[in-house]
Amino acid sequence: MPTTIVADLRSDTVTKATPEMRHAMAEAEVGDDIREGDPTAQRLEATAAEITGQEAAVFCSSGTMGNLLAFMCHLRPGEEVIAERDSHFLRYESGGVAAIAGGIPRTIAGVAGRMELGRVAAEAEAGTSHKPRTTLIVAENTHNMAGGTCLDPGYMRQLWEIARSHGIAVHLDGARVWNAAVALGVPVSSLTSGCQSVMVDMSKGLCAPYGSLLCGSADFIGRARGMRQRVGGGVRQIGHMAAAGLVALEAMVERLAEDHANARRLAEGIHQVSPELVDLDLVQTNIVIVETGPIGLSGAEFATALADQGVLCHATGARRIRLVTHRDVSADQAERALEVIAGLVQSLRDG
Ligand SMILES: *Cc1c(COP(=O)(O)O)cnc(C)c1O
Repeated sequence: MPTTIVADLRSDTVTKATPEMRHAMAEAEVGDDIREGDPTAQRLEATAAEITGQEAAVFCSSGTMGNLLAFMCHLRPGEEVIAERDSHFLRYESGGVAAIAGGIPRTIAGVAGRMELGRVAAEAEAGTSHKPRTTLIVAENTHNMAGGTCLDPGYMRQLWEIARSHGIAVHLDGARVWNAAVALGVPVSSLTSGCQSVMVDMSKGLCAPYGSLLCGSADFIGRARGMRQRVGGGVRQIGHMAAAGLVALEAMVERLAEDHANARRLAEGIHQVSPELVDLDLVQTNIVIVETGPIGLSGAEFATALADQGVLCHATGARRIRLVTHRDVSADQAERALEVIAGLVQSLRDG
């Protein structure tokens, strides 16, 4: 391993709380959130509900918990969930949808994270005495494994209409919906208001150390609060953490455009030395997927070779790596990381 890190592009989750967040956490007005309620958590919940165009919200310890509570509220054991095949909740959340909520995933392979809407309608099952009923559709925006790709308001409106006509609820995994809204130049609510539930994360590009908000109707969120207690997610003076979330919503959303510009720069620079490694159409926000097959390395080998030169990233497939930009990677660091990556690609191609 190198002694100096050029850039840590493993994930936007590596971001640390800003000085403003640390100050807000120290000064937060707090209460017992399980008894009379915590005033700062309540402010964060009200703010998130307003931004997403929903009635209410509940502060959860993680995005994973927010998704899980949604599944526990929407699903009865044995009911089906339509979702994109590489959804985060199917790949990285320890199977909670099935193990705890009893859901049966019915997956559709998407293009750029987008399930074809005709397929969604065709897969919806009304349910009979022997066929499980489809209760929920899950969409992910931005789509992590597809490379941070966006679902736009027009797509969401069509999805809501299909779901409504089949009597199915829509849950949005909006861990990075902030990135989608900034990249598309639309209000968050245009991507979320027609969903029956929405999870938004504070701890990715927004840099807060903790938490997500599950948003929905007042009745739904009341039930989710009960489920949060059931899984041990009720936390007493949680306002200290909520205070960081409030700073995140106020100060950290618009700056995501910088992360997007840095990701674009990385992608275009790599594309310039070797066009087959990066699909520029998929680089819409802060994630760049690099295919390593064309240069004869596995994703893991390429990631190791980059780490030796101080550029940290994850292999997210047998022949691919993922680069994620965030607040703790400056434009200058992105430029130097690009030099390292381009240099390695060139040496492998010529050597
Ligand atoms: C990170 C992520 C989650 C889970 O969030 P945590 O806060 O890490 O639990 C859910 N969905 C997507 C798309 C994610 O990228």
